[in-house]
Amino acid sequence: MSTLDLSRLVRPQTRAGKLIAQCPACAQSGGDKSAQHLVVFEDGAGKWGCVQYPGDKEHRRQIAALVGIESDATFAPRARPPVRPQPAPAPRKLDLPVLRIPTVGELAQLADLRQLPFFAGLELAVQAGVLRCAEMLDAGETVTAWLLLDSSHRCAQARRLDGKPWRGIGDVKAKTLPGSQAAWPIGAADIGAKPFVALCEGGPDTLAAWSLAWWEGKAEKIAPVCVAGAGNTLHADALPLFRGKGIWLFPHHDNAGERARLNWTAQLLGAGALWVQPFSVAPHKDLNEWLTACRAEIGGAL
Ligand SMILES: [Zn+2]
Repeated sequence: MSTLDLSRLVRPQTRAGKLIAQCPACAQSGGDKSAQHLVVFEDGAGKWGCVQYPGDKEHRRQIAALVGIESDATFAPRARPPVRPQPAPAPRKLDLPVLRIPTVGELAQLADLRQLPFFAGLELAVQAGVLRCAEMLDAGETVTAWLLLDSSHRCAQARRLDGKPWRGIGDVKAKTLPGSQAAWPIGAADIGAKPFVALCEGGPDTLAAWSLAWWEGKAEKIAPVCVAGAGNTLHADALPLFRGKGIWLFPHHDNAGERARLNWTAQLLGAGALWVQPFSVAPHKDLNEWLTACRAEIGGAL
């Protein structure tokens, strides 16, 4: 069956999923003044016929000769160009400051700020490429910040090393850098062959997880991963990276943390995680505080 060149139809209109127009064959002999004879189904994309002469092969041949497109007539104009799906906009590139390896003094400062018992875990995070420092502008002032990111460069979160909030963005403590995909779990790209993941909420807990992994002597086996906020659903592209892994969750001890625990557990198990086990930080608020509470005890042992 030949295709019609819809651009050459006279007085076309759509009605109830059909394209209706003047039948060129009827019009040639003075008929179809009301332009109702030619019907093309599926909004003009499907079968067609003249309602005045249904089944009249000669009439059909006439119509095809007048407004048809030969199958090899590739340059025939078309009334409606095929609708191409708009390509998804390219993800905006992560806007990173100049990153550098933190000095030992800065790691000690960061451990002190977060009240971590030691900074050895932070050194491991640096070696893994997920912890960096940078000089950044905040309300016109240059400040030193510590950042978490991974090799995918999909998301990065920065905090001031002096512990103060970012004044330039309304006294928020954690700044997700422009171009970030906030749902990307930072560190997921670098889980690699490590069999276990410590999935944390926010940067301070992630530093605590690195510290804990070092303390437990399991840094070779555990990949701490940071979700920027409890409200984030894990990015779909990251889920396959958790397949086959044993995952500890460190949800905050609050309602948002509980919702995140349920949401992330379902996502991770759905993605093929081996197991997902929540770690209760109660009665403390989060893993950082839980570890801080052990500081005196562990610090005494060191
Ligand atoms: Zn006709």
